[in-house]
Amino acid sequence: MRRAVCPGSFDPVTLGHLDVFERASVMFDEVIVSVFVNPGKDKAMFSMEDRVRLIRKATTHIPNLVVTSFSGLLNEFCREQKAQFIVRGLRAFTDFEYEFQRALLMKKIDRDLETVFIMTDERYSCLSSSGIREMLYFGGDITGFVPECIQKEIMERGAHSGVCPKKVREDR
Ligand code: ADP
Repeated sequence: MRRAVCPGSFDPVTLGHLDVFERASVMFDEVIVSVFVNPGKDKAMFSMEDRVRLIRKATTHIPNLVVTSFSGLLNEFCREQKAQFIVRGLRAFTDFEYEFQRALLMKKIDRDLETVFIMTDERYSCLSSSGIREMLYFGGDITGFVPECIQKEIMERGAHSGVCPKKVREDR
């Protein structure tokens, strides 16, 4: 069985992520989407539980996909799940540098693990979770950026996350 892990922060999941999940599900027998803690990223807006639940809700149409979370090393998770592949999405050149380093590191740790990259669909190339969090901070419209079935919930949760600073403006 060809099993792949799609790891990420997914804080929150976007249409760009969903596109990667859908395309990976055609390439592999089973895709495990796993929400990971990224120690390099600041405080999350959504809890791990919320992120898992939102992804599950947005992926009910993909039968060979499961959603879970993990706090630990990716290679250990892959071994535990008997997954031979890691799927990552690539947007711009800036992603490449980071992803390249990560893929090489994984290869050094475990030679049997292959990292596979799925190039973003151009419709989603400008989408990022951090961009959406910024929109949520300031009450922007995120229509067309996240799966429609979870948009309302993302907006509500984002607004009540407590991460959002109050709007401030200095008058001149
Ligand atoms: P991480 O903290 O691990 O980078 P993210 O949730 O930011 O987690 O991203 C998870 C994966 O999805 C990464 O491989 C990232 O490059 C990819 N990704 C993010 N946004 C998009 C997008 N719009 N199109 C394609 N891939 C994307």
